[in-house]
Amino acid sequence: MIKVTDLKKAFDGNVILKGINLDINAQEVVVLIGPSGAGKSTFLRCLNQLETINSGHIFINGEDITNPKVDINKIRQKLGMVFQDFNLFPHMTVLENIMISPMKVKHESHKTAYETAIQLLNKVGLLNKATAYPDDLSGGQKQRIAIARALAMKPSVMLFDEPTSALDPEMVGEVLAVMQNLAREGMTMIVVTHEMGFAREVGNRIIFMDRGYIVEENSPQNLFSHPQKERTKAFLSKIL
Ligand code: ATP
Ligand code: MG
Repeated sequence: MIKVTDLKKAFDGNVILKGINLDINAQEVVVLIGPSGAGKSTFLRCLNQLETINSGHIFINGEDITNPKVDINKIRQKLGMVFQDFNLFPHMTVLENIMISPMKVKHESHKTAYETAIQLLNKVGLLNKATAYPDDLSGGQKQRIAIARALAMKPSVMLFDEPTSALDPEMVGEVLAVMQNLAREGMTMIVVTHEMGFAREVGNRIIFMDRGYIVEENSPQNLFSHPQKERTKAFLSKIL
């Protein structure tokens, strides 16, 4: 479903992604791990074209989205993204936050957008917060709303960049539970996280990135128990 070939990305001549090759199947949950500065966020941002790449190709369902002729907005709709710091619109209610993009970008009717939003609020367990403002929510609740908002665009892939890193520890579980349900329902997901419990339990594949390269990838079982590369071993010894 996603195919990346020899992707390179530099900022001001500083090469950050040095040739990424990756195939992700539909319904697969891929967990991206690696030290700070490895290029994990940059990679996710390249996938949904928040960054322009220097070379290489990204195919989504066979379509080369790096072709300048493709409509970037259409591509972004296929990839939902959830960030560390929620990025909700503070002056809008929860419901409005979820409904705005489907109405503005996809021209859905108010009724359709509303019905979807209610369904999604139910899914993330926050139906009772429909008319609340982001400031009235806990961090965990904000992040569940951010997930609902991304899902409202009916993406075919969800990208998560450290979705629980900004949360108080007691709120991490509720967000991971929503993500785990999404995975069970068959959503294709790429998740950057330090939550190794989630990686083991929910991930189908773990990718270890360092200094702009994919160093090693394997099933959670194999990667965590039998890392092959020294750099992977060194990293895991620090975090496990
Ligand atoms: P972390 O675990 O800290 O989030 P990461 O693996 O997500 O790290 P990136 O944020 O992708 O790493 O950053 C990789 C490198 O690219 C870093 O050295 C960073 O300084 C650099 N970088 C990222 N974005 C930009 C930018 N817009 N301009 C210049 N350099 C950037
Ligand atoms: Mg990052």
